[in-house]
Amino acid sequence: MAKMEFKAESKKLLDMVINSIYSKREVFLRELISNASDAMDKIYYRALTDDKISFDQGNYYIKLVPNKDTRTLKVIDTGIGMTKEELESNLGTIARSGSFTFKNENEIKDGHDIIGQFGVGFYAAFMVADRVTVTTKSIDSDEAYQWQSQGSDGYEITAVQKDEPGTEIVLEIKENTEEDNYDEFLEEYRLRQIVKKYSDFIRYPIKMDVTES
Ligand code: ADP
Ligand code: MG
Repeated sequence: MAKMEFKAESKKLLDMVINSIYSKREVFLRELISNASDAMDKIYYRALTDDKISFDQGNYYIKLVPNKDTRTLKVIDTGIGMTKEELESNLGTIARSGSFTFKNENEIKDGHDIIGQFGVGFYAAFMVADRVTVTTKSIDSDEAYQWQSQGSDGYEITAVQKDEPGTEIVLEIKENTEEDNYDEFLEEYRLRQIVKKYSDFIRYPIKMDVTES
């Protein structure tokens, strides 16, 4: 499939996210974990009204898989997933996402951290990753799809194989530069620290697997 261009406003916003306004790159993880949690909540709410869907709390979790050899960080969830159309509309248009919305007051822990009060959304992943790959299967579809992007130059969607519904996001973590350290986002202790700081209230277990690749 040909590479799709982001919508114009998306491109501008995305460049802003990647290039500057953010001092605290670590919040990318808060955004991905909150999306994963939302995706599992969506199954929960669906189950309330749809007899064909059951919600067994034990099946829902978030898993982080850092790997220093491949320089990747995976964020896996067992949530509702996305159809091809949802991938396109949700991840293809930054302005439609929650990006740059002011976060709910009860989510604000540090009142002095003005920047931290903005939800930048999914695209925050590009603050720490050169390339992001989203593999997802919706509970409403038998097909799975992969969305891949290196940032503001667009994205590609391809059909892939995935057995269970849910979403797996692979971040190809940037190389360190003289000014910036990215290795920290592959360190287990550092990831635990970030999870504790921003995602303590998440209602699903957040597991870590440093052996899986
Ligand atoms: P927001 O969460 O505020 O809507 P985001 O930029 O964080 O904005 O995410 C955009 C959209 O992409 C979400 O609303 C959701 O529909 C979809 N999405 C992102 N991550 C996931 C995921 N892990 N599982 C299912 N859908 C997701
Ligand atoms: Mg979000």
